[in-house]
Amino acid sequence: MPVLENFQTNEVELPEIKENEVLLEAMYFSVDPYMRGRMNDAKSYAPPFEIGKPIAGGVVAKVLKSNSPDFKENDWVTGNLPWQQHCVLPAAGLIKIDTTIAPASYYLGLLGMPGFTAYFGLMHIGKPKAGETVVVSGAAGAVGMVVGQIAKLHGCRVVGIAGSDEKVKLLKETFDFDEAINYKTTADIKKSITDACPKGVDIYYDNVGGEISDAVISQINFHARIVLCGQIALYNSTEIPMGPRLQPMLLTRSVLMQGFIVSNYQSKFTEGFNHLSAWLKEGKLIYKETVVKGFDKLPGALLGLFEGDNIGKMIVEA
Ligand code: NDP
Repeated sequence: MPVLENFQTNEVELPEIKENEVLLEAMYFSVDPYMRGRMNDAKSYAPPFEIGKPIAGGVVAKVLKSNSPDFKENDWVTGNLPWQQHCVLPAAGLIKIDTTIAPASYYLGLLGMPGFTAYFGLMHIGKPKAGETVVVSGAAGAVGMVVGQIAKLHGCRVVGIAGSDEKVKLLKETFDFDEAINYKTTADIKKSITDACPKGVDIYYDNVGGEISDAVISQINFHARIVLCGQIALYNSTEIPMGPRLQPMLLTRSVLMQGFIVSNYQSKFTEGFNHLSAWLKEGKLIYKETVVKGFDKLPGALLGLFEGDNIGKMIVEA
């Protein structure tokens, strides 16, 4: 588990803005579990962070000055930007956002990477059908709360697993989940899942891995789909953990288990955006954020993801 002492804040001189560059003021920062993976010096789909250089991630910013024909002062933009209050960057790679569709911070959540992750993982791998039972772990987080609501929109029975009574109440009362389980207080997670899923599990949207997933997969139905989205319970592991050998069960029940990275679907992001923004506008999707205030709170907010500090998408307002 990383600690606050792993982070450092520095003041730097900003360079002059050259042609096709912009000066940005960061407004909202996204903290995401995958950032923990980038702290490992290991080969992965994204390169490791470099010690002494700013962390980079999803940021929503305002253009203060522009030397680019594509952006003007006061435009709202998003992109993979450094954790800096201000920065001078090439305009290429920035995306203009429309704050009349949704508040700017939503472009780091529902209308950004986590929303697309929920949509494509569930719709393209899970392929929900009315009447099926969908279990989602990490259910009250940025991805999980969207997965459950989309599954409900498709007529599924939805069971969420989360780490507090407050989250369980939210899932059932606000998001209309059929059942929700607090994995931290249940005496027997396997029994809780069996009770919540009398017809077994047709789709398991896995955000957490570990023992929670072992318990859900033990209830998996014939022809079920396991959407392997995240394994946050294992991100701080220093050794490969040992668990049940699942292959015989997956084999005999003809189960599909597929991992994915949201960027696999980059060419289809417009499809995701159109669906998610339409459901938001029609009031069919409810969206929650935990907004931590202050640039200096970024490291604590990132670490807080591993303690379950957030309900919905964790955002830091600069
Ligand atoms: P969340 O908003 O869900 O925040 C993380 C949550 O994980 C916490 O609030 C906490 O909730 C839960 N958690 C933390 N530690 C554990 C643990 N040991 N066991 C069980 N639950 C734990 O994050 P996101 O929605 O952004 O991401 C969810 C998952 O999806 C992550 O694993 C992430 O890496 C993955 N992901 C994958 C993507 C892809 O392209 N494949 C893209 C985006 C995200 P609680 O109180 O319930 O414990």
